[in-house]
Amino acid sequence: MTGLNEDQARRRGHEGQPGRYRQSQALFEQAQRFLPAGVSSNFRLGAPPLPLYYRRAEGGHLYDVDGNDYVDYVLGMGPIVLGHAAEGPVRRVESTLRTGQLFGAQSPLEVELGERVCRIVPCAERVRFTSSGTEAVQLAFRLARGFTGKRRIVKFEGHYHGWMDSAYVSVNPGEDVRGPYDAPDSVLMSRGQSESILQDILVLPWNNLELLTRTLERRADEIAAVIMEPVNCNTCVIPPRPGYLEGARELCTRLGIVLIFDEVITGFRLALGGAQEKLGVTPDLATFAKAIANGFPLAMVAGRAAIMDQLTQGVVHGGTYNGGVPAVAAALATLDALAQDDGAAYRRMEEAGQALMAGLRAAAARADQPFLVQGFGAVFHTSFTNQRAIHDYRDYARYTDIPRLQRFVGHLADEGVRTSARGTWMTCAAHDGADVERTIAAAEGALRRL
Ligand code: PMP
Repeated sequence: MTGLNEDQARRRGHEGQPGRYRQSQALFEQAQRFLPAGVSSNFRLGAPPLPLYYRRAEGGHLYDVDGNDYVDYVLGMGPIVLGHAAEGPVRRVESTLRTGQLFGAQSPLEVELGERVCRIVPCAERVRFTSSGTEAVQLAFRLARGFTGKRRIVKFEGHYHGWMDSAYVSVNPGEDVRGPYDAPDSVLMSRGQSESILQDILVLPWNNLELLTRTLERRADEIAAVIMEPVNCNTCVIPPRPGYLEGARELCTRLGIVLIFDEVITGFRLALGGAQEKLGVTPDLATFAKAIANGFPLAMVAGRAAIMDQLTQGVVHGGTYNGGVPAVAAALATLDALAQDDGAAYRRMEEAGQALMAGLRAAAARADQPFLVQGFGAVFHTSFTNQRAIHDYRDYARYTDIPRLQRFVGHLADEGVRTSARGTWMTCAAHDGADVERTIAAAEGALRRL
């Protein structure tokens, strides 16, 4: 989540291959006169070599304004599961464009999508659509508080649940402010954030069931919900330790606490039914976004009827764009494509991802770099570390070489491979063997330059 400031980003542009990013550089400078920092999300500032400007995306590739072609593993920060501009969603959306975009009311399409989601997602007895993951999380918090009559939300260090005041806490807190491991301080992540929300949030390290048990048992009467990424994709793609999700599930059931899985990244990416299907633990509520609509802005909260039906009993949620026709149409087509041929799209993502992970490990070993690859085929993480696994945010912050990772990511861009500044790679169904080979060759070059 770390954003570079503009100066750092500008300097980056002059490293690497001079001239390669000339037009992006010029646009970046022009943009800063109109768009603060030259971008529309602070999280896009950090991507080495500099914030690039793109003209086109197709399949597994991106094309920037300088004409450079990248194999893309950022994939719109996760939504693109089928490939950019995938035929099914594009055709389905096109078919709706002349019949209107927003009715300020319902359409049959959203009923069809709601029914489909309830069939696919284990926790989904009801669904409410929103336009972004950030909003979905806010609704989940409100539902949990409305249902339990309690106030506090437990969240974990290194987990990201959107940029809103109430959730943007302790995502990547510095060593000087994060406090002791077993009783972390809650750290606001942005200037301008309201300090009052700190009273509502309780921060814990993730993946430690003993600490979670102790905290929840002691404070059950204040805690409305526990929210977590079931796989911590926003830090190192850390999988849960064996028994951790099951333990959290048992505790929340026993203590009357709502368990929320934030599946904004894992949903429809790890499996059609998300991480909850893949890992076999069903939360009370789950938030989804990104991969459900292959790049169109659709998100949702899904969950148990008793909690979701608080929306008929005084819990309020609105939004002009909720259930908008193009996004819902795109989601229906995306789910069709993901389910096709018994999940062939997932097999392709897994195959490309596994080949990449193996190839990157081998390339790093040849370059004699201490390198860790962890995660799943559809989303994995690379870091420079001597550790054999990273189990939580503090491991990541303490034991991985983040500056070296950033240099690696910049060198990869020079070699025509785009991955995220924080070392997360995602695959899509359009990545093929040639993309994988090209990526591994690029990584060899990038590793040699370190
Ligand atoms: N939750 C998680 C786990 C996320 O990764 C993100 C976005 N990266 C969000 C919530 C926020 O979603 P959005 O950017 O759509 O608001």
